Amino acid sequence: MTYSIIQVPSGGAKISINNGVLNVPDNPIIPFIEGDGTGRDIWRASVRVLDAAVEKAYGGARKLHWMEVYAGEKAFNQFQSWLPEETLQAFREFLVGIKGPLTTPIGGGMRSLNVALRKELDLYVCQRPVRWFEGVPSPVKRPQDVDMVVFRENTEDIYTGIEFENGSEDNKKFKEIFQQAFPKEYAKIRFPDSAGIGLKPVSVEGTERLVRAAIRWALDNKRKNVTLVHKGNIMKFTEGAFRNWGYDLAEREFGDQVYTWQTWERTKAEQGEEAANAEQDAALKAGKLLIKDVIADIVFQQTITRATDFDVLATMNLNGDYLSDALAAQVGGIGIAPGGNINFVTGHAVFEATHGTAPKYADKDMVNPGSVILSGEMMLRYMGWGEAADKVITGIEGAIGAKTVTYDFHRLMEGATKLSTSAFGDAVIAHM
Ligand code: NAP
Repeated sequence: MTYSIIQVPSGGAKISINNGVLNVPDNPIIPFIEGDGTGRDIWRASVRVLDAAVEKAYGGARKLHWMEVYAGEKAFNQFQSWLPEETLQAFREFLVGIKGPLTTPIGGGMRSLNVALRKELDLYVCQRPVRWFEGVPSPVKRPQDVDMVVFRENTEDIYTGIEFENGSEDNKKFKEIFQQAFPKEYAKIRFPDSAGIGLKPVSVEGTERLVRAAIRWALDNKRKNVTLVHKGNIMKFTEGAFRNWGYDLAEREFGDQVYTWQTWERTKAEQGEEAANAEQDAALKAGKLLIKDVIADIVFQQTITRATDFDVLATMNLNGDYLSDALAAQVGGIGIAPGGNINFVTGHAVFEATHGTAPKYADKDMVNPGSVILSGEMMLRYMGWGEAADKVITGIEGAIGAKTVTYDFHRLMEGATKLSTSAFGDAVIAHM
């Protein structure tokens, strides 16, 4: 593939995938989108941290070859396009990349950037780890109990964007067809004449690939349980189906490595509760991964009141959106919350800050670069460069542990030293 605006670094090589296994050269080319607003300051600090981690871990034997690709304001100002086709092509070709926050242009065009990247590359998992670093200000009493990873489905659910605006021709047409074909269902609409309508598609394939990714990741990373989050008591054929298909997949594909609450229910019905409990105890003692489920409203309580019960959370799109931000609040908020959008089959992955561009702080060298740094840490781990990822974690732990932090943490910590974005990057490197 040839590029006209993107400069492909000459010393690097492409990451590829073979039979579902990433093949990462020692000199991988990594596309990055700097990001708008504070993205510039954040990226400058983050790239130094990630390069230093790789250097310290491998002493020059491995090196990231960064390749700038364009999106957002910077792309629009330079190339009159919010998302040049070349950017999509680069992520398609080079598989693994990272992005800073992007401005949403008025008129909603930019919703389609994040969506376009996810859709184009079919990045069906949004992975959000939520863990606490000692010293980070937290609104809960025991933030050290929070160590969860959300696997949020990224392509289905009410987020598909199939909506019919009240008053529009399409809305009228849709309701006419609906009323004709399903009069009983139509009669359930409380105010049919003025109702906007949205559709919520949830499929077997969409559910299975998400739950499969969550279980595989949990097994690979020796986690204790995977919780299927759903509102199946109300939405039986979408949310309830997500739960049922998830359990069925766990038993069918991971039978000897997992124990599910579905099995527990079956054993209870056949042999009584005591037998079911004994069976579960034996399975967990043997090191099996527990697959359980929870209703989506209760999960917001329980992840606060009994955080240690939760480990990996497999969620649908909307529930996962709410839940991952709520969980992030327990451990320091969006300044430090990383994320990755991943297709575990094709290998395509885009790691990204979960916050926005915070434009009022742009170019002030002030905000917390933690979210992008930790997204880079996820990326390194995803590439199999765990030693470098560990260096990033050690650096972050050290900098925060020494109470040398950016303004957002400084205002909530006693006796802390306030650092700029770049100085925080230096501190992280110094603590590696
Ligand atoms: P925002 O940029 O996330 O900022 C909201 C507030 O969060 C900031 O004022 C700041 O709080 C805090 N914050 C965000 N990033 C921080 C960091 N790195 N360090 C410390 N604190 C940080 O949300 P917004 O102001 O609603 O949105 C601004 C623009 O970003 C919009 O154009 C929006 O569409 C876009 N956006 C993009 C993405 C994305 O690209 N993924 C995501 C969300 C929003 P304090 O003022 O209290 O310090």
